[in-house]
Amino acid sequence: RPVSLARLLGDVITDLRPAAEAKHLTIEVVSDGPIVVSADPARFRQVLTNVVSNAVKYTPDGGRVVARAGAADGIATVSVADTGIGIPADQYPRLFERFFRTSNAVQGGIKGTGLGLAITKAIVERHGGTITARPGEPCGTVFEITLPEASP
Ligand code: ATP
Ligand code: MG
Repeated sequence: RPVSLARLLGDVITDLRPAAEAKHLTIEVVSDGPIVVSADPARFRQVLTNVVSNAVKYTPDGGRVVARAGAADGIATVSVADTGIGIPADQYPRLFERFFRTSNAVQGGIKGTGLGLAITKAIVERHGGTITARPGEPCGTVFEITLPEASP
């Protein structure tokens, strides 16, 4: 089914804005066009909710979250960048394992089950896409999801 990633992302940000405001986070969504993919809208909304809610959860008071939807060369991309606690470099390889939680998140007393990203990755891959994470500049984390763009 053709779904606008930009629209789904906007809906997800609207839902999570109160949680972000409670932590005095700036949360921003940027998109260039509707960015249409073929996806199950409910499942893909869950994907975006998981990644954006992690950004809100793992970013301390006063930080910033920026979500972008774009497309180039037939590939749609959503990136979610935060200024949060970041991921220890040696722990990136385990990030998408079920029940994995980073040492700094556990030590910081931030609660979670470590299932969200494993579920997210399974859904993204079932749609023919990819999900990756990398360090943010100068801090925090950037998650990037790619999917084939729907042909017009
Ligand atoms: P839940 O299952 O409720 O989502 P969770 O947030 O702990 O629990 P995941 O969403 O799977 O689990 O994330 C796995 C781990 O990756 C987290 O516990 C945290 O250690 C780390 N993590 C995820 N997103 C971020 C982020 N934006 N910044 C820093 N660490 C993150
Ligand atoms: Mg989570």
